[in-house]
Amino acid sequence: MKENRRQEPARGAFWHALDDQTVQCDMCHRFCRIREGQPGFCRTRVNRMGSLFSLNYAHPASIALDPVEKKPLYHFMPGSMTFSLGTFGCNFRCGNCQNWQISQDDGRRHHPAERSPQSIVREAIDVGAPSVSFTYNEPTVCAEYALDCMRIARRAGLKTIWVTNGYMSDNLLEKLLPLLDAVNVDLKSVDDAFYRRVCQARVAPVLRTIERLAGEGVHLELTTLLIPGFSDGDDMLKRAAEFIVTKVGAKTPWHLSAFVPAISWRMQNITETPAERLEQAYSIAQQAGMTWTYSGVHHQNTFCPSCGSLLIERNRFTLRRHDREGHCPHCGTDTAIKDK
Ligand code: SF4
Ligand code: SF4
Repeated sequence: MKENRRQEPARGAFWHALDDQTVQCDMCHRFCRIREGQPGFCRTRVNRMGSLFSLNYAHPASIALDPVEKKPLYHFMPGSMTFSLGTFGCNFRCGNCQNWQISQDDGRRHHPAERSPQSIVREAIDVGAPSVSFTYNEPTVCAEYALDCMRIARRAGLKTIWVTNGYMSDNLLEKLLPLLDAVNVDLKSVDDAFYRRVCQARVAPVLRTIERLAGEGVHLELTTLLIPGFSDGDDMLKRAAEFIVTKVGAKTPWHLSAFVPAISWRMQNITETPAERLEQAYSIAQQAGMTWTYSGVHHQNTFCPSCGSLLIERNRFTLRRHDREGHCPHCGTDTAIKDK
């Protein structure tokens, strides 16, 4: 590890001391027990003399101005740009990860200059972004930094977004919810075997986080990556759709996305998701009663669930036809699309 990197003391709410200078990190459902001098599973938090320190606080590895649709969020401030940043490290080891250069790094390859929470919000305002997104790697592993940025962003009138694997602890979720406007959670599968095999994680905490978010008034969208032979089976997709309809809400936007092996970390020998599979997955979601499913080029637009009018057209640009309150201009149905 580079010696000159800032080592921010981890907030007391997110760890506690055990015996013999060992500490337990309470940030995510791994609850790592970390011995003196050692990092946690995510490689971003280290035990120094019996206290926990964050290694990625104020060290974003990637910053960009992205369309909010790229998160993906299709029903939250459609057509807007979002100031997006990620740090390094992750509490998962997904073989399919497309951002593995930062998510599986311990900071050695990514050590950019410090960017304070104040400077992040100032940059977002300077480029005219109405929101700040924590994305690219898992925001849970830089939660202290993200929460500090979010507090300042909220005071400046900006919205806040997380793109997450949903593995944060209940403790972190409590601190996060009052500061969060919108979130996209990866529902990678509903099978524990998938999470164990592909991500080195468990499914139950993810499902609980999704249910919790659905009941808290945060704008929620879900994404499932269809990895051939791993997370694209009819049975799994039916159970995932059933989970969403019964526990989360049939009106939750669900993004079914295609796997691209060439940019994956350790699954380059798996084939790309065929267009027919995306089409079949879309049909399964429709049959289960989902209102808004997005998959592939043929299912990117948003239609009114009552009268079928085109509400949002997504091509190169996003064209909105609903009113500012998210009502259908033809029949007045409240579509719950959030514009502000
Ligand atoms: S945030 Fe990192 S150190 Fe903390 S419990 Fe999760 S994986 Fe372990
Ligand atoms: S896909 Fe997401 S959760 Fe999985 S390793 Fe990459 S950044 Fe982490």
